[in-house]
Amino acid sequence: MSQLQKIEPSPLDLVVAIGAATDIGGRASNEDSIHAAELAESPPAPGGAPAPTFLLAVADGMGGHADGEVASRLAIETLAAAIGNEPGPDAGVLFKQAFRRANEAIYDEGAATGGDRPMGTTLVAALLRGKYATVASVGDSRAYLLRAKGLTQITRDHTFVAEEVERGALTAEQARRSPQRNVLTQALGFRQKLDSKLPAVYELTLLPDDRLLLCSDGFSDVLDNADLIAALLGRNAPAAAQLLVDLARERGATDNVSAVVAEAVPTRVSTVPVAAVRPRARLSTPVIILIAAIVIIVLVAAGILLTSNF
Ligand code: CA
Repeated sequence: MSQLQKIEPSPLDLVVAIGAATDIGGRASNEDSIHAAELAESPPAPGGAPAPTFLLAVADGMGGHADGEVASRLAIETLAAAIGNEPGPDAGVLFKQAFRRANEAIYDEGAATGGDRPMGTTLVAALLRGKYATVASVGDSRAYLLRAKGLTQITRDHTFVAEEVERGALTAEQARRSPQRNVLTQALGFRQKLDSKLPAVYELTLLPDDRLLLCSDGFSDVLDNADLIAALLGRNAPAAAQLLVDLARERGATDNVSAVVAEAVPTRVSTVPVAAVRPRARLSTPVIILIAAIVIIVLVAAGILLTSNF
């Protein structure tokens, strides 16, 4: 039998670990709501093998009195109920339905309570199945992907300044400093019907060691991309989420801050069975000397025997 046996590679080349943290920051109350739940295993594509499944979300509410807290909580609750514990394979369609329901629930609540400012919330959500991630967003909470020390913003902000940047009227730096940087063009609950093009949906495939970050806009005034990269690298997902929030507080964040981190942990499955890579038993030096001595004695004895016979 050959010493190297072929073994089947694992269907998963990574597992996902999740961390989440939220903090009141510099506000009187926390209008952010977060969600991180492991669901029943589900297939990433119709007919595919089921994979570990997670629903992650960050919502950043706004409105008078306690309306922001109510709006963000309603968004998360409606999303979680609409996705359920056993989501079907088409995450994009599921998110379209879930965001529509959340918009209606918040709009109805706002109309019923009649606050002085419109009740609304951002919502960024991700459905992860094994290495496949679908991200959906309305508003300016963001999803970032950290891959090989490079940070990419996955979501497009639904803000006045982001639209100005897209049409070339502002630079990214001007947008970052603009007093209008928090003015949203889209949110859940502002209008009776959500724009038919929303939510924006993004599909990505995670590679081992990638990090996916969902966060509210409270970080943007106090942490830059280099800070996000430094916090996400070299620590596990719960520690990274907590560090981001702690760092924002230390730097005097004036807004609520929330971070949900998914870490693609490589499973490092070997294609070589353990028995085949075990080092061969080595002879110790005294044993080698003993064997050499015996060989010499035998050879000398044989020599004496031969010379005595002839
Ligand atoms: Ca905020």
